[in-house]
Amino acid sequence: MKSTMMDFPLTLTHILDHAGTLFGGAEIVSRLPDKSLHRYTYADFYRRTRALAEALQRAGLQPGDRVATLMWNHYVHLETYFGVPAAGGILHTVNLRLHPNDLSYILNHAEDRFLVIDDTLLPILERVKDRVKIERVLVAPFTGKPVPPGTTSYEELLKTATGTFRSPPIEEDDAAGLCYTSGTTGRPKGVLYSHRSLVLHTLVGALPGGIGIAESDTILPVVPMFHVNAWGIPFIATMIGAKQVFPGPHLDPESLLDLFERERVTVTAGVPTIWMGILDALDKNPKRWRLTPGMRMLVGGSAAPEALIRGFDRHGLRVVHAWGMTETSPLGTVSALKRHLEELPEKERYEIRAKQGFAAPFVELRAVGESGEIPWDGKALGELQIRGPWVAASYYRMPEAGDRWTEDGWFRTGDVVTIDPEGYVKIVDRTKDLIKSGGEWISSVDLENALMAHPAVKEAAVIAMANEKWGERPLAVIVPKDGLGVTAEELRAFLEPNFAKWWLPDAIVFTKEIPRTATGKFSKLQLREQYANYRPPPSDLPA
Ligand code: AMP
Repeated sequence: MKSTMMDFPLTLTHILDHAGTLFGGAEIVSRLPDKSLHRYTYADFYRRTRALAEALQRAGLQPGDRVATLMWNHYVHLETYFGVPAAGGILHTVNLRLHPNDLSYILNHAEDRFLVIDDTLLPILERVKDRVKIERVLVAPFTGKPVPPGTTSYEELLKTATGTFRSPPIEEDDAAGLCYTSGTTGRPKGVLYSHRSLVLHTLVGALPGGIGIAESDTILPVVPMFHVNAWGIPFIATMIGAKQVFPGPHLDPESLLDLFERERVTVTAGVPTIWMGILDALDKNPKRWRLTPGMRMLVGGSAAPEALIRGFDRHGLRVVHAWGMTETSPLGTVSALKRHLEELPEKERYEIRAKQGFAAPFVELRAVGESGEIPWDGKALGELQIRGPWVAASYYRMPEAGDRWTEDGWFRTGDVVTIDPEGYVKIVDRTKDLIKSGGEWISSVDLENALMAHPAVKEAAVIAMANEKWGERPLAVIVPKDGLGVTAEELRAFLEPNFAKWWLPDAIVFTKEIPRTATGKFSKLQLREQYANYRPPPSDLPA
């Protein structure tokens, strides 16, 4: 007999049963493609989620099998969040904004057996279906149209359940979720979340140092459910029994503001680009929406500018800046003001709130510069390294990508930071050669390689340009081959077939020479300085 506590595995099934048993009357509201609202209760959610788990088992799902989702944020996606892991499967949320090449790579690399997809997103599947092997496609029928031949309606699948679901034995270290990140060089890389890591992340995420919600809150994740589990919000909200509101495909400022007002939302979360649009709408029309005073908005994925934080304060709404990664589940840091810092002059308070914040409980941080670990003085620069119970130990089926971990077991984030004496981290640069536009990654290296394949291009370097709406946008600097002429339009047309439209550079400029580092590589640092104030002429912007 153990002399301490019982063996009790930390699994998502406990969160599901807890919510279904105790919060049956709580509401879940989803915006559908036709803009109508679907409403049901936790009791309905519990019944359908267990039906999904049983139906998947009946359809042959084996423990450890991957079930992919290509869906917006809504109740069916929430059902898969719990139903797939409860059946012993692994929920693989797929980013629907990816180019078909990346999408098919990811679906094949994960060897997904099942795919659950919104019927409105079927055209995405159409583009990759000849390149992927998915045994069973389940279509969530929102438009009322019959599902295509060879697929099954999600609703019909649920009807095959008899109400006798029994969860298979699940160990807390078993995998429950999978999400690929393209925020590294090379191929997209998978991060496999365990039941234990998700449960611990949920527990800490629910605390005031995380999202900090209560049963009386109404929470609306704008952050897609295919971005690191919508930052863990669906798990957290379900455990707490909070009212959940999902925006479906309607992410424009007006639709979101209408939903915040109508459902009395108290907590929400998303990337800065979303909030820029919302702030603009509020500034233009401050009286139009009656939002919950003090509504909290978790902002992360890219840096939240101080102007954004100040801007929302003017409307009585509170931005909370946070930092995290796919590899860190994602909760890493939250920029809450410590009590004694509330006394500081306004300017300093805003400076702190615009930092990425200090470590959540159980997250350990250090930053390493050229001569070792840097002091926490707010000045020295180093690469941020992290470890903790919800930080990935490796990439899924990709042993060659092991260089992201140090020999003593820390994960290298690729973010260059200062850390101040209070532990607040401030991101000042990135070692990863990538561009983050509207919360999604664009690979400079992929664009450069593609551009250099053009017969008239001698050299190409792609850097991030600051952009008010998107955070960053790509700028391509081109050295043409001697005597050969090429235009920006020709290059853009050359790139188009192989990249998603939003990857195409906003500006393509021509030069005689690209600055180099001592080792002969392109000096992105110098290029960024050179083009820091460059604003593309309107004709340069892609149509
Ligand atoms: P992803 O894995 O796609 O979520 O991207 C994680 C990366 O996004 C981090 O390593 C940072 O480079 C960036 N990032 C996330 N949150 C922030 C933030 N609050 N401020 C600045 N950069 C951020």
